[in-house]
Amino acid sequence: MYFQVITLFPDMIRNAMQTSIMGRAVGTGLVDLDTVNLKEFSQNRYGSVDDYPYGGGAGMLIQCEPVWQAYQRAMENIDAHSDEKKSDAEKKTRVIFTSPGGTVFNNDLAKELSTADNLVFLCGHYEGIDERVLREIVTDEISIGDYVLTGGELPALVMMDAISRFVPGVLHNDVSAETESFGNGLLEYPQYTRPSEWKGKKVPDIILSGDHKKVDLWRMQQSIHRTAERRPDLYAEWLSNRGIY
Ligand code: SAM
Repeated sequence: MYFQVITLFPDMIRNAMQTSIMGRAVGTGLVDLDTVNLKEFSQNRYGSVDDYPYGGGAGMLIQCEPVWQAYQRAMENIDAHSDEKKSDAEKKTRVIFTSPGGTVFNNDLAKELSTADNLVFLCGHYEGIDERVLREIVTDEISIGDYVLTGGELPALVMMDAISRFVPGVLHNDVSAETESFGNGLLEYPQYTRPSEWKGKKVPDIILSGDHKKVDLWRMQQSIHRTAERRPDLYAEWLSNRGIY
């Protein structure tokens, strides 16, 4: 998996991708990361990449040409990085524009994107990016939720983290991405660790029973209960996938 992030703030991406599980994934080469700094492609001597929107309105927009040139750089990086035996058509590349107006990201989409060879994230800033260059280069427009952030860097980091969990070897235990919340269409059951009693609160007896079948059944019941209570939308989908509704 080769991630590239086109951004005005490459340090923000690099710093966040150096820690914990993502840091290890990058450090061991399971995931490769490069940033492309939009400012390098400024068309003026001030180093800016934005201008006023035609038609008026608040804020500034990122211009086409710096984004187009940054995209060309990302494609060159992919060529340099790819297995030489693969033709352009065989290199699975997706260009993702992070946008509150996109498809809302979820675990299924993370899993699907993890099958690509190359993912290029284009991070907006200010009021966004000139539509013409988006139509030229973007394959997927994705939102991380119904709220507006100041830039696309946090959304790109959120997506890279969730996608990397499906890259074989990134998690020590290969099954855990499947058994966690959403993996089976349900939220995860409650979990406990030592001590078995804390501030008078005891771990449920069944968890300590050592009877794995009973524990699995209890966990499934808890998952169903929690999903029905907290996420009726997910619960309805889970039922319908089982032909219950
Ligand atoms: N004017 C835009 C609108 O109303 O849709 C919002 C622009 S926002 C201030 C700046 C940039 O942050 C966007 O271009 C996008 O890249 C990123 N962004 C903000 N919220 C986001 C979200 N919920 N999901 C993904 N990207 C987001």
